[in-house]
Amino acid sequence: MRITRIDLHWVRLPLIRPFRTSNSLREALEHVLVQVRTDDGLEGWGESASPSDPFYCPETTRTCWHLLEDFLGPMVLGRDWSAVEDLVRYYGVVKGNNFAKAGLEMACWDVLGRRSGVSLAGMLGGSRSEILSGVSLGIQDEVERLFGRVDEAIEQGYRRVKLKISPGKDVEVVRAVRRRYPDLPLQVDANSAYTLDDIEVFEAMDDLGLLLIEQPLAHDDIVDHAKLQSRLKTAICLDESIHSAEDARKALELGACRTINIKVSRLGGLLESRKVHDVCAAHGVPVWVGGMHEFGIGRAANLAIASLPNVTLPGDVAGSDRYYREDIIEPPIRAERGTVPVPRGPGLGVEAVLERIEANRLRHERLHV
Ligand code: MG
Repeated sequence: MRITRIDLHWVRLPLIRPFRTSNSLREALEHVLVQVRTDDGLEGWGESASPSDPFYCPETTRTCWHLLEDFLGPMVLGRDWSAVEDLVRYYGVVKGNNFAKAGLEMACWDVLGRRSGVSLAGMLGGSRSEILSGVSLGIQDEVERLFGRVDEAIEQGYRRVKLKISPGKDVEVVRAVRRRYPDLPLQVDANSAYTLDDIEVFEAMDDLGLLLIEQPLAHDDIVDHAKLQSRLKTAICLDESIHSAEDARKALELGACRTINIKVSRLGGLLESRKVHDVCAAHGVPVWVGGMHEFGIGRAANLAIASLPNVTLPGDVAGSDRYYREDIIEPPIRAERGTVPVPRGPGLGVEAVLERIEANRLRHERLHV
């Protein structure tokens, strides 16, 4: 089979509510959707869900576009392939740029699933029909407003709450939430805003019964994380620091974390995500699936990877109606009492709605053989 055409769609969707982390404030997200056509008439969709700015990772929407248009697309167009491994090999010389790669790779999995009539979860070896869903709450100016968001999440049945923290918006906020909700499964995410000089912040949080502390230190560090982990009872979870299964192995061997947040985008695709899952399973370490507020395409892929057996902690993959008024897929992805069903149809198991994509599209490019 050969890829004969690749359409790139730069799509902007406004968020229902702005979302603040330790390093960004977002009111709308712009992702690149990758639409692949093959010579046997099949179509697949993928999503490169990079933020527009390089504050979470070095990539941006524009670098994803550049990589897909000028390198990754041309490297796979017209080449013979029958497995995702073939395609990954064709662009294997490209270093980094994992968000861009993940968009193209996802579309190819979708093609394979539609060809064989098997769901993405089925192809990956998933064993769950629904996943446990938690929410991730952005930093709020007022703690009362944060309580309101927590109340809403509990009311909707979500299984755990994650609070974004940043220097000055950390221990007191988390303590206040813990006091008000003594039994709530709770975790925090610092998005690499601290250094080892802030160790007292994490020692103070160590007695608050948190499930985990996510990426407290630098985005490219595992050594200091190992030092911090040795001082804490609470598990450290790495996100930004892990870009491959090899990174995961090294971090686990060093004792830098006790769990890992799997993100399909950050890991360059589903193949590598499954490898990280397997490395963690071999080390007896549970994992969970995070997200980048994906549109429906990337969200469906997140659900498929979250159906793997060692994903035993509730993840960040919630219903897309928490973020967007109208998603660009059908059927919509919704959470029901804290669980989200894993799509069962062939490939991603959701259909891209081209009219909605075009209505929100900022840029379009077609590559062909
Ligand atoms: Mg994170």
